[in-house]
Amino acid sequence: MPNGATHSKITQCALESCGFQAIGENSALVHDYCRFPDEFYGPRRNEIAPYTYMRDGIQFHYPPHTPYEEAYRYWNADENGRLFHSHKFVNYNFEYVFAGFQFHFSRIIACLKNNEGNEARKFLGCLVHMLEDSTFGLHALEGPGGADAFVLDRMADSRDFPVRPSYLAAQINSDDCQAPSYTPHSLGRTADEAAMRLYAEYVAYVTDSRKSLFSFILKANDGDTDACSRLNQRMFDNAVKISADAIWTVFAIAAEGKDTTPPPCPLTDMEPHVFPFGGFRPYRYTAFERNFAVNMKDEQIPLKLLLPEGQQEFQKGLSFGTHAEGELLFWIAPGSFDGTRLKIGFHPDLHFGKANLQIINDDTVVDEVVLDDMAYTTTINPRNLFGLRFTSDSSAGCICVVG
Ligand SMILES: [Zn+2]
Repeated sequence: MPNGATHSKITQCALESCGFQAIGENSALVHDYCRFPDEFYGPRRNEIAPYTYMRDGIQFHYPPHTPYEEAYRYWNADENGRLFHSHKFVNYNFEYVFAGFQFHFSRIIACLKNNEGNEARKFLGCLVHMLEDSTFGLHALEGPGGADAFVLDRMADSRDFPVRPSYLAAQINSDDCQAPSYTPHSLGRTADEAAMRLYAEYVAYVTDSRKSLFSFILKANDGDTDACSRLNQRMFDNAVKISADAIWTVFAIAAEGKDTTPPPCPLTDMEPHVFPFGGFRPYRYTAFERNFAVNMKDEQIPLKLLLPEGQQEFQKGLSFGTHAEGELLFWIAPGSFDGTRLKIGFHPDLHFGKANLQIINDDTVVDEVVLDDMAYTTTINPRNLFGLRFTSDSSAGCICVVG
C-alpha cells in the first residue's frame, strides 16, 4: 500500500534504470501522474477520469483475484460416475488485468507516436501505479492467485499476533530502499504482445512479492528487523523492475527504428489463464508447476519426456497432474512465437494410464490424439487461444508440456 512518495520513488528508479532522467518532461510523471489512481476519488476526479480504465465497476487499481476455488469446487458426476466440471472456470484476474494492459499500452503508444508525450505519461502513470501497488506492500495479497487484502487479519489469532497483520504490513515503506541494479528489456513489438508478456511478468512478480509480504509479516511479528528490511527491499526491487520493463517498452515501440524484439523465451514462460487443478496425487492441491515435475514423495524432479530418440530431460516447461478432465490455455499474441516445437507427454516415471488430448490453436481444435508412452510432438505457430484439453482417468499420471 505505497504512499505517494513511495510511488514517486519507485517510478523514478524505474525511469533511471531505463536511462531516462526523472526531470523535465518526466518530472510530472514522477511527482504527479504516477499518483493519479489514489487521487481519482478526490477533488481531481474529472481531471483524472479520462486516463482511468474502468471495467465491471472496478478502477484499474486493485484488480480481482484468480478464483482458484472454482477449479476444485465445481465438480459433478454423471449417472455412470464420470466426473465433469459443472461450472465454466473464468480467470477474472486475467480477463480484467490483460484488458487493462491492452488499454494502457495502446493509448500510451498512440499518444507517443502522435507527439502527445504529456498525455502518454498520464496513462503511463496510471499503469505503473497499478504495477507498484500490486508488488509493493499489502496489495500483493490480491490479484493472481491471491485473496482480499485482509485475509491474514481474519486468520491471525490476536494472542499470536498482538498487532494485526495488515498493521504490520503498514511498516513496509521505501525510506531505506535502494534502487536495484537492473537493465530493463522489451516486452514486445506490439501493444498486444507487450500486454501478454507483462501479464506473465505481473503474475511472477506479484507471486514473489506476496511470499515476501507473508514472510515480512511473520518476521515483523517476531521483531526480526534485519529480515524485514531485506524483504522490504525485495518487494521494492520487484516494483521497480516491472515498472521499468513497461516504461522501456512503450518508449521503444513508439520510437522509430528501435529494436523491440523481446529476449527469447520458451512459450511455456507465458502465463496460462486457464489451468487444471487438483489432479494426479502429487498435484492434488495445486494447478501446475513451472520447470519441474513432482514425484510420489512430493519431491521436485526434472521434467522428462519419452521421444523417438529416447528419454529427454528439459529445464523449461510445465507439469500438471491428470484428472477426469482439464484445460491448459494461454492467450498468445499473433506473431509472438513462430514455428514452436511443442512436446506434450507423460513423465516416464509418473505414467500409469492414458489421456485423450485435444490441441487448441487460434480458438480451434487442430489435432486430437491418445497420449500413452510416447510424447506427442508438433510444430505450431501459436496464436490467440492456444493450449490443450484432456480427459483421462484421474490417476493416469503427470503430463509435461515443453515448447
Ligand atoms: Zn494506489
